[in-house]
This record gives sequence, C-alpha cells and structure tokens, in this order.
Amino acid sequence: MKQKGSHAVMSERKNVYLFYKQTEELEEKVQKIRKLGRKYDFSLVDDPKDANIIASFGGDGTFLQALQKTQFREDALYIGINDGDFGFYTDFTTEDTDRLELAMQSDMVEVLRYPILEVTIDGSKSFHCINELSLRSNIIKTFVIDVFVDDLYFETFRGDGLLVSTPTGSTAYNKSLGGAIVDPKLPSMQLTEMASVNNNQFRTLGSPLVLGKERELKLRIVQDGNDHPIIGVDNEAMGVRNSREISVKVSDRVIKTLRMKDNLFYHKLKRSFL
Ligand code: NAP
Ligand code: MN
Repeated sequence: MKQKGSHAVMSERKNVYLFYKQTEELEEKVQKIRKLGRKYDFSLVDDPKDANIIASFGGDGTFLQALQKTQFREDALYIGINDGDFGFYTDFTTEDTDRLELAMQSDMVEVLRYPILEVTIDGSKSFHCINELSLRSNIIKTFVIDVFVDDLYFETFRGDGLLVSTPTGSTAYNKSLGGAIVDPKLPSMQLTEMASVNNNQFRTLGSPLVLGKERELKLRIVQDGNDHPIIGVDNEAMGVRNSREISVKVSDRVIKTLRMKDNLFYHKLKRSFL
C-alpha cells in the first residue's frame, strides 16, 4: 500500500496535544513550536481525547510516557520531538524547527506503524506496551515462572526474571540482556532471560526466542511463597501481588508515528551503537 505524504497526513489532522514536563527551559522551546503550529493552522487541545496528533517533547522515555498516559490511541498520530539528540522514537528535535517545518509541508515524512504488545493479567486487567514487559521479583530470591507457548508447556524458568520486547523495544532493555535487534517491519515479540539458573537440575532454553504475531505467551508465576513480582511496563512499574498468569500477544493495534524519510531504523541503529 502506498503511504500518504505529509500533505495528506497533516492536513487531515489539526488538533494537537502537547505532552511534556513543564519546566521553564522546555516551555521556552515549546513556545517556538507552538508558533510554528499556528502558522500552519494547527490548534492546541487541552484534552488528549480531542487530539488527532499527540506530540511528546523529551527523550524516548517521554514518548513512552505519552503513550501510556494517552492509552495507546490507534486513531492518533504520535510525534516524538527530542530535547537533545535524536532517539529511537524521536525523529525531530526542539533545536531544529526547520526540519519540523519541512515535515509540515513536504513529502519528506512517512507514517510508520509500530507493533505493540497486549498484556493481560489473570484474564482481566489488560494494557499495552511499546518497548517491553518485564517480570521479576522484588526480593532476592529465585523467581520461578512456567512458560507456555500457545498453551503448550514449554519450560520452567528460574532466575531473576523474564522480559518480552517488541521490535522497537529490542534496542533497549532487551539489548542489554543479549537479545537480538528486530526490524520493526516484523510484527513479533522476543522473550529474553534475566540470569537464568541452568545446571543439571534446572534447564531453560538459554537463548532469546522470537515469536510470530499469531503466538500467545503465557507466563505463569509459580506460587512458591515468592509473591513479590514486579511487572515493568515500558518505563512504569506495577506492583501486582497475587497475580498468577500473564498473557502476552502482539496486539492487533499498531501505533502510528511520524518519521523523516531520511531517518531509517538502520540510521538510528548506526547512530546509537556503531
Ligand atoms: P531511563 O532508565 O531513564 O533510560 C533508559 C535509556 O533507554 C534512555 O537512554 C532511553 O532514552 C533509552 N531508551 C528508551 N527506549 C528505547 C528504545 N526503544 N531503544 C533504545 N533506547 C531506548 O528510562 P526511560 O528513558 O524512561 O526508558 C525506559 C526504558 O529503559 C525501558 O522501557 C527499558 O527498555 C529501558 N531500561 C533498560 C535497562 C537496561 O538496559 N538494563 C534497565 C531498565 C530499563 P532517552 O534518554 O531518550 O529517554
Ligand atoms: Mn529517559
């Protein structure tokens, strides 16, 4: 399918919600961008529910917060504007308003669709993440988790914890755990281990596992008295005492974000790691 240029993308979307930490320093930079927005007939809204563009000002961490706080809107276009260097989710910076202006009027932009994960706890509470889900103990004790793939019992994990990342999250926590970098064009999820116990008694796969879009992962916390799990959802922690089963799937929903055509995922990889 041919992607729409920015002209179409931006002219259909005029209601903008700005997500940022209101510090004096940032406020000044945001003012410049507000001015630019007025020039191109955008209007600012106070409630993200009324927005069809949600712009975050800050690093990748701020972009993650913007998504969590606005509930991963499928009908909105998210734009990450960095307050310094470019990041993985931020294709623009407050320093370079020319680039942003170019994006508003030219065909130099493209809408990316990023896969996200859908996580359900004990069959009821559910939420999304765009980087990863992490599951670990908050006390110094081996954490035991039974892992199921599509209802097939796969392995029993013992160690610090498990992490399930999206393709775009693969360059973050997942990478520190020795996971592979996954191209965001592959809707998938990756399971990585945090310090697994492996000996003649206990065995886990021991390598990262990439699962396709149709799979379901179930992480069943073995109730052995360690009822202190922490669930990390992107950059937020949730205390979930007494949870037993966490199901993870690649969501049917995708997140739309704007990028410059000259800034491919591989540019970002090269810039950050090589
Ligand atoms: P943070 O602890 O302040 O920053 C973690 C670093 O990861 C920041 O430099 C952040 O970039 C960067 N980052 C975030 N998402 C990324 C991505 N998809 N690819 C590459 N780098 C990424 O926390 P934060 O800024 O709120 O970010 C939360 C993320 O930190 C979590 O989702 C997790 O992936 C990661 N994390 C990593 C480890 C680890 O590697 N051992 C441990 C805990 C959390 P910015 O500076 O632009 O924000
Ligand atoms: Mn950060």
